[in-house]
Amino acid sequence: MNVAFHCDHCERTTQADIDVDTVTIPCRYCQAVHRIQPHAIEPGNVVRCAICPCEELFVRKDFPQRLGLIIILIQIISSSITWYFHMIYWTFAILGASALLDFTLYMWIGNVLQCYRCQSQYRGIEGLGERDAFSLETHERYRQQEARMAEAEGSARMAASAVSDQSSP
Ligand SMILES: [Zn+2]
Ligand SMILES: [Zn+2]
Repeated sequence: MNVAFHCDHCERTTQADIDVDTVTIPCRYCQAVHRIQPHAIEPGNVVRCAICPCEELFVRKDFPQRLGLIIILIQIISSSITWYFHMIYWTFAILGASALLDFTLYMWIGNVLQCYRCQSQYRGIEGLGERDAFSLETHERYRQQEARMAEAEGSARMAASAVSDQSSP
């Protein structure tokens, strides 16, 4: 199993192997040591996020979003060109081929388990098909929580600077 996570020391996405006995993992760029959440890892399984205190994870296709976007753009541009030049058969051939390509990629690409809160990604886990898929409701809940925390942090900082302004002559 391995985890890809955001290192808050160097602000980069790093990767590390994890198993039941893992207690800490180093960042491969800045060597900062990250402590694993207790009881997050079971043999061959990730029960909850090991990087942050979040207990909710979802399964998604391990598909690079940029590649997906490029494929869609090529499909749209090429089929619009053939459509513009009244090459009807070519247009349908392109659309058909891209549907087939999408389907093949979907079947071929594996799953990844992702944390709602810190977006850490876990790969190499058995039986991911039975885990919960992405829920917009849960995602929204974490997004709002994050926004509230950022807001609270911002106002705390403002209050602190106001206090220091008053105390300074
Ligand atoms: Zn780092
Ligand atoms: Zn997390």
